[in-house]
Formats: sequence, structure tokens, C-alpha cells
Amino acid sequence: MNTPDIDTEALAARYREERDKRLHRGNLGAYLTPTGRFAHYLEDPYVDPEPPRPPIQEDVEVLQIGAGFGGMQVAVHLLKAGVEDFRILDRAGDFGGVWYWNRYPGVACDIESYIYMPLLEEMGYMPSEKYARGPEIFKYARDLAEKFDLYRRALFRTEVSELRWDESAARWVVTTDHGDVIRARFVNLATGPLQRLRLPAIPGIETFKGHAFHTSRWDYAYTGGDAHGGLEKLKDKRVGIIGTGATAVQAIPHLGEWAKHLYVFQRTPAPVPVRNHKPTDPEWFKTLKPGWQKHRMENFNILLTGGEQDEDLVADGWTEQKTSVGIAVDSLSPEEAAERQLRDFEYMEGLRRRIDETVKDRATAEALKPWYNAGCKRPCFHDEYLQTFNRPNVTLVDTGGLGIERITETGAVVGGVEYELDCLIYATGFDFNAGNMASRNGFEIYGRGGVSLTDKWKGGIATLHGFTSRGFPNLVIQANAQGAVASNITHGLGEGAVHFAQIVKHCRDHQVRTFEPSEAAERAWVERVTSRTYRTNHDQECTPGYYNNEGAPTEGAGINAFYPGSSQRFFQMMERWRANGMPDFEVS
Ligand code: NDP
Repeated sequence: MNTPDIDTEALAARYREERDKRLHRGNLGAYLTPTGRFAHYLEDPYVDPEPPRPPIQEDVEVLQIGAGFGGMQVAVHLLKAGVEDFRILDRAGDFGGVWYWNRYPGVACDIESYIYMPLLEEMGYMPSEKYARGPEIFKYARDLAEKFDLYRRALFRTEVSELRWDESAARWVVTTDHGDVIRARFVNLATGPLQRLRLPAIPGIETFKGHAFHTSRWDYAYTGGDAHGGLEKLKDKRVGIIGTGATAVQAIPHLGEWAKHLYVFQRTPAPVPVRNHKPTDPEWFKTLKPGWQKHRMENFNILLTGGEQDEDLVADGWTEQKTSVGIAVDSLSPEEAAERQLRDFEYMEGLRRRIDETVKDRATAEALKPWYNAGCKRPCFHDEYLQTFNRPNVTLVDTGGLGIERITETGAVVGGVEYELDCLIYATGFDFNAGNMASRNGFEIYGRGGVSLTDKWKGGIATLHGFTSRGFPNLVIQANAQGAVASNITHGLGEGAVHFAQIVKHCRDHQVRTFEPSEAAERAWVERVTSRTYRTNHDQECTPGYYNNEGAPTEGAGINAFYPGSSQRFFQMMERWRANGMPDFEVS
């Protein structure tokens, strides 16, 4: 199919060629987990060295692991359900989750603040801008913890060593790196899908003698400045940044402003639509009626999952992309798919035009163009990123889809050319591997009979609704495969928090000692999520990334994928299931 301006065959061929280059890059695509000699990349730069604290031993009704917006919403909903006896534990030094760790310059959220920042109505808080910046969100998390009196329940800078089910006491026994022993009736895991930082397995990575860190452990002692910028200590430094994902797109304008020279090492160009940022209009905010936030979140989620709404309340780049391009689900007929593809080509052509109009150097503009469909990579809405490449002190080093060849003592090698660097920043993202909870979380879970979750799931995940797994009683896992996440992650986490709090309340109200999915219910759920694919056809055509299991969307994907349908419908289904008395649980 050809329209006057778009040669669809040529575009499809170009997309495929670009994807194939990346699929066949071999080891250059591999990542390493920061353990052993790389363990220092995980150290927390935001806290002073820790004074030793004595180990604690305690018995609580609920242990909440993770103190980000997932765990915090769990805490609030537990309190609303009348559950007071709980402990919140996190390896971080404070509340905030990803906003605790990610403090890089330019950090901000490009989901609208009015739907992203949870519990705004309860907090009586008006975000200052349509897209809140990291420091505001992080402060909001701490204010939320103050308001709901969560600090006295928190145990920070504490890593779980393992979770072990004690059959006789019907308790989880949770041990930590501080020698703590916490016995809990119920455990909720809200440890986040983007928490385990990932380093690229580039040959020679360990030999670099300059300064190096990952974006989620930003070293302001070295760069100067803060999350708002002002990186004055980089004035005489040659800085390299690896990666051009959502994090890098936000940090690069600041690095470009301050570094003596900045080299951006790009493997796959990001899609960079317009951001259209603006401060909140207090007059408008005053007009919002009680219940507005849930309504706005749902309106956004329905539009993003292909549903119809009378009005687009958020009306931003996310909803514009979904409403103009459509949803790439496998259930489309060939005609619908072709029509959707045409709209996708048009949309992406618009992004490529924006690059031509913004970036002055032709070769750099060409190299910055993304050649894949709109839903293949997360859009990185920004209005200063592309302009940064017009600076004389900024060089885009395009690796042709392959990645950096080698790291040496003094720099990075691409195409046989060594770029000398004083500082190397890894904006290489996080381990998204849903199939391996233990590697993502850094601890193992041993259920009934001492069986580990890793062993139970070695042939593929088995859950009911993604939340619970047979053999692991009284345990709920948030944002897990086979469940549903919303593009606005805090919305999905809020739904999950209600789910968990209601389960605990149900157990209280009905004197339930233990719950877990029945064998039949778990089998039926796994069958349900694996019998239907959601967007595998689309993902197969995509350039590799964490959206499509790094280019292998069918490999265990059915089983490790999220719920194959609209998350909004999933949340409604969970509500009905709870109202029906949680029928698929076996209880004692
Ligand atoms: P990503 O995984 O999205 O990006 C990692 C980047 O590193 C990619 O550009 C990747 O290239 C590149 N890379 C990896 N290995 C190499 C290598 N060997 N050589 C060269 N390049 C390499 O991580 P981010 O931290 O950017 O983002 C993670 C997620 O965090 C986002 O998707 C989003 O969900 C969230 N986030 C949200 C933000 C927001 O709201 N604005 C801001 C920041 C993060 P390739 O594409 O080829 O794989």
C-alpha cells in the first residue's frame, strides 16, 4: 500500500533491516548483573556510611517489601482496611522507590503528574507542573509517608536475604542482611519491575580507569550540581554516556550544557515526540470535583488500551499516539492491521521530520532517526534533547545498532576508533526479567516444603492473576507477569494495593489462616493467559528492547507476558472477583 508521501514497502524493508542488524549483534547485546567486582555500581551514593544497628526480631501481621509508590499505596489501603500492624522494608534509605534511586539531572516523569502522583485528593496536593520533576515526586513520597505516619513502620537500608514459609506457625520468616528476623502472616512484594540496574557486557568494561557510574546512582560529588542541573564539575571533563533510552534523553541536555565534551554512544535511536510541558493552572485545579483523580486515571488507561471515551482528559502525547495510531493487537483483521500500520508510518514519519527540522548536521540528524513502529520503544517526550546535538561540544557516536565494541583503560571503542573519556555514564536501564524474580529481587522465596519460587517457575511462571502462586501461601506479588500493569504504573500499583489490602481484610473477617490459589484455578489462569497472544505479531517486527524480550517475543513470552488484554478490564475483573468472595482461593 502506498500513499502519495509514504513508500510503505521501502519503510517496511528499512524497519526490518534495522531490526535484523540488532538481532544479530550477538554478544554485543548482552548485559551483566552487577555482582562481584561490579557490586560497587549498586552502592547507594545518597546516604552516609551506615552506623551499625542491632538486628531486630519481630512478629507482624503484614510485611510490605518495597517502599515505593506500590508499597506506600499498600500501606495506605491497609490502614483504610483497619490493619495497623505492618512493617515496610526497603534497601533504599527512604521512601520513594524509583524516585529515591533515580536522581540524575533532568529526572522527571512523563506520565501526567495529576494521574501519576497517587492519592492527590487524600493529600490535598496540587502538583506544580503537568509533568512533575523527580525532586518534587520524591518529596511528595516523603510527605505522603509523614501524613500516613509510615516512617515509624519503615526499616530502610535493609536487604532481604530470603523469605521462608514456616508451615507450623503459618508465617513467613524473613531474614535480612542486618541479621533481622521478621515473622509475618502476610507478605506483599512491591519491589518494582525496574529496580535491578543493568550494565552492558562490553568487553573490557572492568578495565576502564576513569570515573564510571550508572544513572540510578548518580555521583553528584563527581559531577557537581543536582537533579535540576548545574553540573559545574564537568567543565573540564570528557564525558561519555552509553544509552539513549528515557533516562538518557532527560540527562543528555544537562550533560551537553556542562561537559567539556559529551559523547553520546547510541545503539538504537529513541522516539522523541514533543513534550508540551506547562505549569499547573491553580484555577483549573480548583474546579476538579471529588473523585476526579480515579476518573482521570481510568480515562487515560481506557484510551491507552484501545477503549472509547467521550473526552480525552489528559490529552497529551501518550493519548495522541494511541488515538491517532491505534493499538497493535493480534486480533486485528489483515485490513485493520494494514490501515493501522499506515497510520503508524505516518506518525513515525512525523517524529523523523521533527529531527530534520531540529538537528542542523545532516549526518547526525539521519543517525538520530528511529526506524521502527511507534509501540516498539517507549516514547521519550522531550523538547531539549534533539537540540543538544547542535552544540559544538556534543558528538553523537552512532554504533550502527551494534553497541560499543570495547572499553579500554582510557575510553570506548566504536568502529575501530577510540573515544578518550574521563567519565563514563551507564544509562543502560534495568533487568526487566519477569520470569526470574530471585535475580530481579536479589533474594529467594521458599514456599511450602522448602520449594523455591525459582524452582517452581523454572518451566514458566504459574500464578493466579499474576498476584499469587500455589505453594506460596499468604504472599502477593505486585506488577508481576500474568497480571496487568497500566502504562501509568502507579495506577496499576494502586489497584494492586487495594487487591492485597482487601485480601488481608477478607482473611481477618473470615478467620482465614492461609490462602493460596487452588491447583485448578492456577492452571486455568495460566492457560487463559497463554492461549491468547496480545501483540506478538507487532512485537516480532520490533527492534529489540525490553518491550519485546530483547527481540525474542515468543520465547516463553506467552507465559511470562502480562495479562493479554486491557488492564482496565483486568482491574474490573479483580473487583468482581473480590466481591464474589475470592472464589479461587483454597483457604485454611
Ligand atoms: P532503557 O532500557 O530504556 O534504555 C537503555 C539504553 O541503553 C538503550 O538505549 C539501549 O540501547 C542502551 N544500551 C544498552 N546496552 C548498550 C550497549 N552495549 N551499547 C550501547 N548502548 C547500549 O533504560 P532507561 O533507564 O532509559 O529507561 C528504563 C525505563 O525507566 C523506561 O523505559 C521507563 O519505563 C522508565 N523511565 C521513565 C522516565 C519518564 O517518565 N520520563 C524517565 C526515565 C526512565 P537499545 O535501545 O539498542 O537496547
